[in-house]
Amino acid sequence: MNPLIQSASLPDFLAQHATQEACLARIRERRWPQGFVCPHCRHAGGYALPGRRGFECIGCGRQTSVTSGTAFAFFKLPLPKVFLAMYLISANKQGISGKSLAKHVGCSGPTAWHLLHKLRHAMQERDEGYRLAGLIEVDEAYVGGLAAGAGVRGRSTKHKTPVLAMVEKMGDNLTGYIALRPVADVTSKSLLKVIGAKIQPGAQIRTDALSSYTALTQRGFVHRPEVSLGGKRSAIQFKLVHRQISNLKSWLLGTHRNTCRRHLDLYTAEFSWRTNRRNRYRDAKPDGQEQTITDRLLTAMVASRHWAWTKIRKHRWTRRKMTAA
Ligand SMILES: [Zn+2]
Repeated sequence: MNPLIQSASLPDFLAQHATQEACLARIRERRWPQGFVCPHCRHAGGYALPGRRGFECIGCGRQTSVTSGTAFAFFKLPLPKVFLAMYLISANKQGISGKSLAKHVGCSGPTAWHLLHKLRHAMQERDEGYRLAGLIEVDEAYVGGLAAGAGVRGRSTKHKTPVLAMVEKMGDNLTGYIALRPVADVTSKSLLKVIGAKIQPGAQIRTDALSSYTALTQRGFVHRPEVSLGGKRSAIQFKLVHRQISNLKSWLLGTHRNTCRRHLDLYTAEFSWRTNRRNRYRDAKPDGQEQTITDRLLTAMVASRHWAWTKIRKHRWTRRKMTAA
């Protein structure tokens, strides 16, 4: 088995996360690997509260629950179900749709939808800390719109949303770290804003001859524009970035069929996060200990903030008003 895509078997995972207490223990160990540290006064050491729920600080006497201040806070769903969802979204190469998750986990459709977005949000926060470097292929794609078959083809942004894809080129056929983000439009302003936030200054950027990219040099990048060869030949010319775009499109259609445009940034974040964890060990533990991809999601969840359900529902990645997709 490729060590980079390792994951526990489902029966093993279920056995290890069968009870609320077992899941709380996993969160606690990940949050305080060296033992409890009070988030209020930074005092190390505390008395364990019954049922592994949390600790009472020896220094200030305040109680801290294991889940407070993490993305696990305020879950109504039992933690074994949340952990199963974490397994299904991370260990499956194709992720999982809300409908399937509701069925597998045994919860309502809306609960599954919210839960998946919480997981995606943690993935998004985790990847926000990383920047692409070296040689990067950049291209735009248009995703969404109507279901396949009835689809509006081409670049009509009335139904489709442009997505900027950035892919580290490690070798002729070797992809490094990737980042895909929806953009309001493909103007120079929109594209450079995303590129400036996601790619390290000084990096080399390969793009087609789209004029929106011409200001890259002024922004401190080494710009390498190439006239697109067109059709299948340009798919080979920009092989690595086109592969990710095509994977994203088939994943959105295959797993999700319909994605809400307002939440598209979360879908692209999930796609990027999973691809990055499969390709490379960017956030491997410092001691070099191997982790499964679900372990890495646990790390992301513990480090991420709580995201209220009302906020998830109102979420919109761009200020621009969008027509219903
Ligand atoms: Zn304290």
